[in-house]
Amino acid sequence: MEIDATPIGLNARSTPGTYSGAFDAVRARFAAASGLAAGHFSFNTKQGQCPTCKGLGSLDLDVQYLPDITVDCPACHGARFTGETLAVRVDGLTIADVLELTVADALGRYAGVPAIARPLRPIADVGLGYLRLGEPTPALSGGESQRLRIAARLRSSQRDVLYVLDEPSTGLHPVDIGTLVGVFDRLLDDGATILVIDHDLDLLAAADHVIDLGPAGGPGGGRIVAQGTPDEVATDPASVTGPYLRGSRASS
Ligand SMILES: [Zn+2]
Repeated sequence: MEIDATPIGLNARSTPGTYSGAFDAVRARFAAASGLAAGHFSFNTKQGQCPTCKGLGSLDLDVQYLPDITVDCPACHGARFTGETLAVRVDGLTIADVLELTVADALGRYAGVPAIARPLRPIADVGLGYLRLGEPTPALSGGESQRLRIAARLRSSQRDVLYVLDEPSTGLHPVDIGTLVGVFDRLLDDGATILVIDHDLDLLAAADHVIDLGPAGGPGGGRIVAQGTPDEVATDPASVTGPYLRGSRASS
């Protein structure tokens, strides 16, 4: 599994709700309650999507000589659906309201609906509970995209799985590094192997084995200067990273 930081999906039709599969269960719930087909509650079908913006909620204005301008759809005002679909409320919400819920909100609201809660739980577990169900995944940061990919894998067996991650700590708050380490521990417990390329000292300190490449960057590096447990690398005089790792472990 190469968990890279490239965007997930090509356009606003890919969201945490659709990517996780939770939105399928939401649509089924709306269909059962209203008597309409599940397709009426998709912004990807003709039955459900606003005909003006084709379910995107916004329009790209192609103005000559100017960069593209994106405006809210004047017909649905960003709600993405037809008027008929938006007239349906289930548990007090329209389908557009559900897409505005964060993953954390949806977990609370649908705690008793396993088909919705089960696919959303791993997204909260990787520290992405603040994402809205309808948030376009191509707009997520590289770190968020990597963690959403990990979340999608958390429900599968980890036997014989090797993960390769390139700087997953990028843009993460120190508190979220702890969340990420917790997710890694869970994957390891389930049988996975994880190879991470990173510079974050908390992440290095949590590793079973550290390979320190250097001694400098670019053409001045590329050789293994130290390797072993974090304690061994921290005390290896050949390692440039060692003193920093030692300082980090002393303070934590
Ligand atoms: Zn529209």
